Amino acid sequence: MAGLRDKLPLLLGAKTAKALSGALDIETVSDLLRHYPRRYAERGELTDIAGLELGEHATVLARIEKISKRRMKSRNGTILDMVITDGKRRLACAFFNQAWREKELSPGKTGLFAGKVTAFRDTLQLANPEYELLDAEREAEAVDSFLAEIIPVYPAAQGMPSWSIAKCVRQVLDVLEVDEDPMPEELLKRNGLPGLERALRGIHRPEDWAHLETSRHRLKWDEAMAVQLIFAQRRHSAVSRPAKASPHTDGGLLDAFDKRLPFELTAGQRAIGEDLAADLSTEHPMNRLLQGEVGSGKTVVALRAMLQVVDSGRQAALLAPTEVLAAQHARSLREMLGELGMAGELGAADNATRVTLLTGSMGAKERKKSLLETVSGEAGIVVGTHALIQDTVQFADLGFVVVDEQHRFGVEQRDALRSRGADSTSPHVLVMTATPIPRTVAMTVYGDLETSALREMPVGRSPIKTTVVPVAEKPAWFDRVWQRVTEEVAKGHQAYVVCPRIGDEPPSDKSDKRPPLAVLDVAPDLVGGPLKGLRVAALHGRMPPDEKDAVMRAFGDGKVDVLVATTVVEVGVNVPNATAMVILDADRFGVSQLHQLRGRVGRGSVPGLCLLVTETLDGTSTRERLAAVESTTDGFELSRLDLELRREGDILGASQSGKRSSLKLLSLLRDEDVITEAREQSQEIVVRDPSLSEYPRLAQMVSDVVDMDRAEYLEKS
Ligand code: ADP
Ligand code: MG
Repeated sequence: MAGLRDKLPLLLGAKTAKALSGALDIETVSDLLRHYPRRYAERGELTDIAGLELGEHATVLARIEKISKRRMKSRNGTILDMVITDGKRRLACAFFNQAWREKELSPGKTGLFAGKVTAFRDTLQLANPEYELLDAEREAEAVDSFLAEIIPVYPAAQGMPSWSIAKCVRQVLDVLEVDEDPMPEELLKRNGLPGLERALRGIHRPEDWAHLETSRHRLKWDEAMAVQLIFAQRRHSAVSRPAKASPHTDGGLLDAFDKRLPFELTAGQRAIGEDLAADLSTEHPMNRLLQGEVGSGKTVVALRAMLQVVDSGRQAALLAPTEVLAAQHARSLREMLGELGMAGELGAADNATRVTLLTGSMGAKERKKSLLETVSGEAGIVVGTHALIQDTVQFADLGFVVVDEQHRFGVEQRDALRSRGADSTSPHVLVMTATPIPRTVAMTVYGDLETSALREMPVGRSPIKTTVVPVAEKPAWFDRVWQRVTEEVAKGHQAYVVCPRIGDEPPSDKSDKRPPLAVLDVAPDLVGGPLKGLRVAALHGRMPPDEKDAVMRAFGDGKVDVLVATTVVEVGVNVPNATAMVILDADRFGVSQLHQLRGRVGRGSVPGLCLLVTETLDGTSTRERLAAVESTTDGFELSRLDLELRREGDILGASQSGKRSSLKLLSLLRDEDVITEAREQSQEIVVRDPSLSEYPRLAQMVSDVVDMDRAEYLEKS
């Protein structure tokens, strides 16, 4: 009998175990049984050849149509040409110097064929495929359930084809005894799930499709529970820390600010404002994610919460991902606050506070002044980059941290924040993101946070018209792009030109693709060519901060017509007079990044224009992504489309995309039900039993996932 933690050599023999280990990193029974089939072939149903992708290592169930032998011209050898078919399409296979195979590969036989899919002229090919025939002779071994109705097709590797893996799995299942189901009986019953052993048997050698389905469901459930239990524990430990309460103060800065707001808050801003006010009033730290598109008015919401904290004598910090953005935030907060933010200056309101900018690249004198304002508490609001928290900057009494644009801000950084409050309390934390993410992604990636979403835009926003410019198919459109930019400038407006690259990087190795367009090449080309006579400036992340700041200011003041930039303009930049954006090599950006970028135009009263210039061809998946961006400006809809078009690993990030990912079966797109249920039930369990002491096996499952992620993380860093 074998258990999940047993090593494979004893069960499969040293040679096979070594091959599995070398090809697929599989060492234990558990590793092998968690190497799930990629799909299933049904006996009698051949694999759809039209669905194969170039370059993939494919395993197809197909019928041999014909086979013939010929001599190689150059060398003294033979080639065996074989054609296999699914009944509709054909796939060419060639064997070099293996003439003897002609005897066993006779037309009419079916089998599994595996190899890398290549193309020669217009024909799909498998060169030197590995194969396993399913002929009458093997069917005679009917006891062997490899010949069952449902044939698992495994992710395979050279030298370890799908059927060899199936054979190993079969051998292991024959002796498998699982007596360590992590799911307690009560959960299995409540959710109608099969036990672990039955599920593992069902995913590899299902009795029928229903068995397969319940098995997959059960194993997905495990994945969802492991992740959600971790988050439930994190939420529990975060909110059980002490925090200082900052309840609303009547007649304070917040009330004064509300009175001078030049607009009405939207219903969403009001509702979320109330949630934040309530969170801040408790003696446990707020731990919340605020999602809302660029321009949806998150900053106002955050500022109102900051003022509530300042009103109770505490400080708030606003962290931005870059120094440019921090400087801009400080400016716009000061602007919004007016006399309420001018403490120590002429014309300040009575109870005014101060907004202080604190960045690493400030001059020594200026920085010293900011540090002083921060440690003395004179500054109610301190704005900086993430370094503000990692550094040893001292606050008088930090009560609240707002993190803008959190996609560069991970769990570890959020943890670091928690220790920054006074008297071993944790500050309240609000994380803001302009990238709307689907609910399932939020629950899986930011599951340690409560979430709020601003779904409506404040009135008076201008629409943005987006057009894909396919320059490979329509080269003339490229000139038209620069004409449009010139027209916008002639009307007194401004434009952005965004490039994927700065242009001072060392040339990248062996890629045969043209490198993406670069700011440092494009800017002079435009000045000397299609945009001659316009005031063009370049902006990128490796410019000295004061230069960056000067360029941004010049653009903001209308002294620059066209800003050629990298994605440094992606977040937060707000120049209402900029009405057009040209994104060059748009295919090099992700969907949400493009959406975020174009949010920079249409901030004023004139409709915005966004041109996505690309050389990719119609019908490719990249073009589909661009078409999606063209088709809608609803960020939540786009984030759903993006999830459909991207590999989920890209969304989950490095820790989940490796081959040892803890999410193998669970789909963020299709398994919303499982994820939601798992979140609720994890919460129930953790509230009752935070350390999972009554559920040692669940606790073990959770720590396995954590270890896996940590191992992956260590490998990467
Ligand atoms: P975000 O931070 O979500 O990108 P901001 O808070 O910067 O959005 O708001 C974008 C612009 O919309 C700002 O100029 C802000 O003053 C304005 N704004 C915010 N809320 C409203 C509202 N309710 N009505 C009108 N304008 C608003
Ligand atoms: Mg913003």
